[in-house]
Amino acid sequence: MDQNRIEALRNTSVPPAHHLIDGTPCAASDGGVMPVISPLDGKQLTTMAKGTRQDADRAVAAARQAFDNGIWSGLAPAARKTVQLEWAALIEENALELAVLGVRNNGTEIGMALKAEPMSAAATIRYYAEAIDKLNGEIAPTAPGTLGLVHREPVGVVGAIVPWNFPLMIGAWKLGPALAAGCTVVLKPAETASLTLLRIAELALDAGLPPGVLNVVTGEGGTVGAAIAESMDVDVLAFTGSGGTGRKLLGAAARSNFKRVYLELGGKSPNIVFADTPDLDEAVKVTANGIFRNAGQVCIAGSRLLVERSIHDAFVEKLAAFTEGMKVGDPLDPVTASGAINSLPQLERNLAFVEDARASGATIVTGGARVLQETGGYYMAPTIVTGIAPKDAIAREEVFGPVLAVLPFDSEEEAVRLANDSEYGLAAAVWTADLSRAHRMVRAVRAGVVHVNTYGGSDLTVPLGGVKQSGNGHDKSLHAFDKFLDLKTAWIKL
Ligand code: ADP
Repeated sequence: MDQNRIEALRNTSVPPAHHLIDGTPCAASDGGVMPVISPLDGKQLTTMAKGTRQDADRAVAAARQAFDNGIWSGLAPAARKTVQLEWAALIEENALELAVLGVRNNGTEIGMALKAEPMSAAATIRYYAEAIDKLNGEIAPTAPGTLGLVHREPVGVVGAIVPWNFPLMIGAWKLGPALAAGCTVVLKPAETASLTLLRIAELALDAGLPPGVLNVVTGEGGTVGAAIAESMDVDVLAFTGSGGTGRKLLGAAARSNFKRVYLELGGKSPNIVFADTPDLDEAVKVTANGIFRNAGQVCIAGSRLLVERSIHDAFVEKLAAFTEGMKVGDPLDPVTASGAINSLPQLERNLAFVEDARASGATIVTGGARVLQETGGYYMAPTIVTGIAPKDAIAREEVFGPVLAVLPFDSEEEAVRLANDSEYGLAAAVWTADLSRAHRMVRAVRAGVVHVNTYGGSDLTVPLGGVKQSGNGHDKSLHAFDKFLDLKTAWIKL
């Protein structure tokens, strides 16, 4: 990373952000704007359009028209591939600028942001571009007098609603396969992380994506997001965010046109450490990074640590020592390990969880407080909480901050019981040297992904999706196409 360039970009002024509808930047229909506050210092970075329902409707109409006239869906897949490959290249060319802008907007550490945001978005867009002209339809094994062809067709207009923690990565998980499939998109970024998604949508136009194929409308979820969810012209919602919003989207689909709703929701993912873990120091380091990087604002964060009782105290002690060595603060400083909390309300929510736990007798082993308040930014010390019960809010609810809840267990059965005692089922990890136990645990723990002797760090080749109230459908891998490509049968009498 070029730190001089990062420092130069740190203070550049950011022009007011507009929607991108039908290929044209435009203001909100009523001229409304909202401030964009940087979590690095609590200061206003710029403003962005505060979208209205009319703006959302206009974007949907543009996407509908672009889909129906075949300007994109009617191209040969190889032609769409060419545009998307060029788009990925432009994102890579602008990666550092995008990463710094994103960090100033949402607070992720720059090293992680560069890899997980523009570089990962480019890789995702390229992956689906490269795949789309290699997916065949089917010829069904019918009787000789008939021919059953199964076509795969783009499903139509996609409403993509994404959160603030990794806007480019998660945005690309929707945009890459949706656009490659031939769908058109109305994208609603989060209130506190819209700037980089607007920028890559402009780059898509530069790469040759026709106007109207990708539209971005900024503003509040309850206005813009709700209008997209209720639209009669949106065919699919691809969402990542909270369960509360997921519930509203399902309701909106039911009240409107039964659009398909794919939800990637939260988690309270159990990270299960057995006494026979092959490398305790590695487990400590990966456990800390698995909850405290990006200040815990990671959907798959390992926020529930289950440790076999015989090593509980020693493990927690090592973990606290490692955690206290993690630098908290300015996410544009390359040595920072845990950056800013995205917004003041989110910081206050994190602290409230810790205070509740403290009030009910929990031990705050380390952290537990706001730090660096003098910077004006939103920072919290990585926090480890022990002495809690499985029923406590801090052990059950998704905090979405740098807060780790620790529970001991005595047996494999108890570990499974505790792990599955959650309304969520997004991710999990098992640390053990016993191969048979590892496989038993992978089967027994209800989660979309179970890591073994590691946490996180998977790539595009494998699907990510939740079970239980962590959602449905899958991002990443070829399976992501299932959301955006419909099956159509041609039944032909010969
Ligand atoms: P998070 O806790 O990650 O902020 P949210 O579900 O609140 O989760 O936000 C995720 C995305 O959903 C954001 O883009 C937000 O604007 C949008 N959103 C919030 N409320 C609604 C709603 N009622 N309808 C549609 N989208 C919404």
